[in-house]
Amino acid sequence: MNEPSQRAARSGPLAQVTLSALEHHAYCPRQAGLILLEDGYVDDAATIRGTLMHQRVHDPGQETRGAVRTLRALPVWHDELSLIGVCDVVEIHHDGRIIPIEHKSGTYTPGGPADVQVAGQAMCLEAMFDCSVPQGVIYSAADRRRHTVIIDAAARARVLELAKAVRGTMTTMTLPMATADQRCRRCSMHDMCMPRVLARTQAFTRMASALFVP
Ligand code: SF4
Repeated sequence: MNEPSQRAARSGPLAQVTLSALEHHAYCPRQAGLILLEDGYVDDAATIRGTLMHQRVHDPGQETRGAVRTLRALPVWHDELSLIGVCDVVEIHHDGRIIPIEHKSGTYTPGGPADVQVAGQAMCLEAMFDCSVPQGVIYSAADRRRHTVIIDAAARARVLELAKAVRGTMTTMTLPMATADQRCRRCSMHDMCMPRVLARTQAFTRMASALFVP
């Protein structure tokens, strides 16, 4: 029995985690918490741009050109790791290579949250097709380039670690603390989260207690 099976036998099935939740948690644990626990997703110009872009690639379908078969909007899952998601694009090459391609509207950050999402997609595809997926791709609309993501042991460990952290948020039902750093400037959840207020804990405690003075 492999490790995930042993764990499932010991403690029951794992809660299902979406690959997008891994990406959100990698960006900011509180952002993932707001979406998971408070259904609090908020759009801004960047996320709307991303949604419009995904609508273009999210029409399910497939086509074959030369030696490459391209599948769009492919649902993926990994039963033992209890991960689910949707691949924007999966290329199946004539020589047997399978490559997940995630489309992003913004610039690519090497080692950033999108890498985790692609690594999770690769692990799901490996489980579904019983094959090896050693690399994925992030297509950045900002520079119109494909960026290769290597799915090595560290990338896989990061997926497992983040899945565990997301499950922790879901089971404890506790919102992680606000980071209140440079990430907040580019976060669509900023107004809902109020990171600066929460980071000033003394002032926040003073204001909160003043609310309940009779
Ligand atoms: S505003 Fe900052 S702390 Fe709040 S969810 Fe966004 S990145 Fe996280």
